[in-house]
Amino acid sequence: MNTRLIIAIDGPSGVGKGTVARDVAAALGYRHIDTGAMYRAVAWRAKTAAVSLDDADALTALAERLDIVASGPSVLVDGVEVSGEIRTPEIDRGASRVARVAGVRTALVAQQRRLGAGGGVVMEGRDIGTVVFPDAEVKVYLDASADERARRRLHDDVRRETRDPGQVAGEMAARDEADRTRAVAPLAMAADAHLIDTTPLSIRQVVEQILAIAAAGRGRS
Ligand code: C5P
Repeated sequence: MNTRLIIAIDGPSGVGKGTVARDVAAALGYRHIDTGAMYRAVAWRAKTAAVSLDDADALTALAERLDIVASGPSVLVDGVEVSGEIRTPEIDRGASRVARVAGVRTALVAQQRRLGAGGGVVMEGRDIGTVVFPDAEVKVYLDASADERARRRLHDDVRRETRDPGQVAGEMAARDEADRTRAVAPLAMAADAHLIDTTPLSIRQVVEQILAIAAAGRGRS
């Protein structure tokens, strides 16, 4: 059967969603869409355009007009390659703040739905299975212990983190708490998602589990 599915992958930061989503997409010949990079892009543009992170209307207007391409390894914002610049502690905090603005979410969710319409996508984020594609054929929620997530973040090649491990772990915990408790589209597992605790697993093992779930999903649809 040749059904092109929507595969939604959600979970907290540092869990490995990006690498796993990329590999699952490559194995299936699907597009990989990193929605976290879209929130980061809005925070990055707000910084470069000196837009206050407290100005919900200006942030919404920014999100509505930005041209963001967040599929594949490069992230382009209005044609500018920003993939390194959006993965800094400052943009971590900024993205989490702009993600609380309802108007920003409405604009980005509309783009995400357009990108995923027709299927053949692996979309990763915090609210893909709950809000963006509640009817996705395959929903996966990745989790891992806080220690393991901090360890993975410290070994991230793009970030080349040199700060104190305790500080990195503390910032991740604060951001996850903010993502879980915000009023709009909080980080949550969809009732019908498959939970994978990745703490003891390699990336390859996680990818294989998701491919098995997707194969079962294709069989059903
Ligand atoms: O996944 P990543 O760490 O790049 O996401 C950056 C931030 O964007 C998250 O902390 C979260 O606040 C926000 N986000 C979101 N919804 C998504 C993806 C990311 O609110 N679907």
